[in-house]
Amino acid sequence: MEYLNRLNDKQREAATYTEGPLLILAGAGSGKTSTMTSRIAYLIDAKGVDPYNILAVTFTNKAAKEMRDRAEQLVGSGLNMWILTFHSACLRILRSHADVLGYGRDFSVYDPTDQKTLVKNLCKDLQIDTKKFTPAYFLGVISKCKEQRITPKQYPREFGTDFKEEMIHKVYDGYETALHKNNAMDFDDLLLNTVRVFENDESVLLKYQNRFRYIMVDEYQDTNQIQYTFIRMLAEQHRNLCVVGDDDQCIYQWRGADIRNILEFEKDFPGAKVVKLEQNYRSTANILAAAHSVISHNTERKAKKLWTSEDGGSKITHFRARDEREEAQYVASEISRLTAGSYTLEEGRTEGRRYSDFAILYRTNAQSRTFEEALSRRNIPYRVLGGLRYYDRKEIKDIMCYMRLVSNRNDDLALARVINEPKRGIGAKTIEKLQTLASVRGESLFDTLMDEAVTASLSAKAGAGIRELTDLISSFGDQQENLRISDIYDGLLVRSGYMKMLEDQNNLESESRIENLMEFKSVIIDYEEQEPGITLPEFMERIALLADVDNHDAGENAVVLMTLHSAKGLEFPFVFMPGMEDGLFPGWRAFDRPDGLEEERRLCYVGITRAKERLWMTSAEGRTIYGKFDFTRESQFMQEIDPKLLEGDGVYQKKPAANVFADGAREKTPFKPFDQLKYARQQTRQNAAAMQQSESFTAGDLVNHPKFGDGQVLSTDGKILRVRFADGEKKLAVGFAPLKKR
Ligand code: ATP
Ligand code: MG
Repeated sequence: MEYLNRLNDKQREAATYTEGPLLILAGAGSGKTSTMTSRIAYLIDAKGVDPYNILAVTFTNKAAKEMRDRAEQLVGSGLNMWILTFHSACLRILRSHADVLGYGRDFSVYDPTDQKTLVKNLCKDLQIDTKKFTPAYFLGVISKCKEQRITPKQYPREFGTDFKEEMIHKVYDGYETALHKNNAMDFDDLLLNTVRVFENDESVLLKYQNRFRYIMVDEYQDTNQIQYTFIRMLAEQHRNLCVVGDDDQCIYQWRGADIRNILEFEKDFPGAKVVKLEQNYRSTANILAAAHSVISHNTERKAKKLWTSEDGGSKITHFRARDEREEAQYVASEISRLTAGSYTLEEGRTEGRRYSDFAILYRTNAQSRTFEEALSRRNIPYRVLGGLRYYDRKEIKDIMCYMRLVSNRNDDLALARVINEPKRGIGAKTIEKLQTLASVRGESLFDTLMDEAVTASLSAKAGAGIRELTDLISSFGDQQENLRISDIYDGLLVRSGYMKMLEDQNNLESESRIENLMEFKSVIIDYEEQEPGITLPEFMERIALLADVDNHDAGENAVVLMTLHSAKGLEFPFVFMPGMEDGLFPGWRAFDRPDGLEEERRLCYVGITRAKERLWMTSAEGRTIYGKFDFTRESQFMQEIDPKLLEGDGVYQKKPAANVFADGAREKTPFKPFDQLKYARQQTRQNAAAMQQSESFTAGDLVNHPKFGDGQVLSTDGKILRVRFADGEKKLAVGFAPLKKR
């Protein structure tokens, strides 16, 4: 048990304490997550626990994946073990039991963009001025209600019926009705509905209580009431619950996280063992001291102090630039300098650092743009992780709607989005009429469109376009089990006309859209390789649940940009925290709430403790925000740091323009060569064409199928090909069979 030897005494004590409730309460970088991972290994390896009986949950996909990887490294891969985010765990449960609540099991999961569209439509119907009351506002209220388990019916009782509350009530009610009608759930529903399933059907709860004999939760300080209830219900029977967290890192109170969950753990689970870890293995002493001097200004906290065996290390670099552009240039020039090849560490080691050793952690997403510019100027590769940006792009949303329809054709929202994308001669008015017709008939939009009488009533072009679309969706839907997801993707992209539409536009923008779509294919192929046999609905789930941090690939050599919130649990050798200004960090909004400032301070603590070796904290004397320039005051958090720990104050001295860019220009980023893109496009076209050409096969032909391998055609009637493969006979639809002659 090599992995136990690597732990310190306290960590080992926690990792091997397996029966009964356990709380690991410790500061940042003390090995909480590592201890939990070792505990999983210990359970399986030393205690002989079946991985099937283990549930480990955390907050981000990235953290879950890292935990799974680490556990598999210790005990071997391919284990049937649930190491998941809260959302994915609930989704899995609901896929088997949503019928308890009257949902179909193939329900869709709506992401924030879908939710916005839905609310926008509702506002239009209810004649609400979305300039005064934005969809985001309603969604915020709805989410809070769901968290507190207030249904639309209970809403008026809770909040009264004045004009505004009545309006919210209507939107909330309409929203819930629409979700049900579309057989869809939003992210909040995943948790809420799982708890409701447990409450409504005891046999389901018992099943999972029996199954999960060992339950672990990382980042427990950020659980909200529903997550708490979920875990509590599951743990009731075996009481083998281990939670891990740090009250100083609770940064999601604004989203309902309840710090009491961790502080009152011992009360909730009498007899709980508490282990405190005090040695920090991540950061240098100076970084740790800075983190400590900031967080000790919070009044509401359990006193605890971390120590490290690392020596002092570099001081924290403190820079105040003239404006935000200079701040960004400074950061970029530091990265260039330290990656250029001869950076001498204090201990005398000399080495150039990799770009991926650097992270820029900011308070708000909007801050990324200036850094993106400065980094590209110097050809420094970077990745922005934030706000589901990639998956928010129009073309990605569109193609995902096509895919969603293939897996659930009753998804009206998806259909409405792509019905005229590319143009099929169906205007907004027609779509509205069709939607009304569908709701009058009480069926889905797709089913209405399948009606010949309906398509016949439209213009010839629109009718033909719709028939083609519904054919395409139905055929792929029927054949999805016989196809790889990448085949479905290629087929949809080409045969829906989407690809051609972009190619016809033939401008810079459409070109970059194609690039993005091709990039999406690498996402699909990645999943197919990692999880052979993954189905389309499963894939759609994974994508829907991708949180921002998931684009972060530690293997890739690029500087990482993200918000402080998404950096929780991660670590980097070099960290920049820009925008240390009052109003930005702490943000103005922090002053409106009683605990606002303390929560911002915890966020600052999280940021500082991400750094292993060096930390820069920068600010600008003046900054343009949303088009307006203002002078700033340095963040009060800077003043809270012991000045002895800081170095290099004052305004960054601008070098002559020629020099500013000279040092970094040496490193050339290898841009993705154009040929690769061209090749990917050809592949997509050829793949789609190959499927269509399957009509040329006749009985006796020897063929190869990417999913089923070699086979022989038994018969064909022009519609269905019967093919014998090693694992049995398959019926493949002509035109949708990716067969090749052998
Ligand atoms: P956070 O609060 O930020 O989530 P954490 O408490 O979960 O931090 P980990 O991420 O588990 O901490 O560990 C921090 C770092 O310390 C990691 O690089 C880990 O490999 C290292 N580490 C943890 N325990 C030990 C140990 N006993 N010996 C050496 N290194 C350790
Ligand atoms: Mg951790």
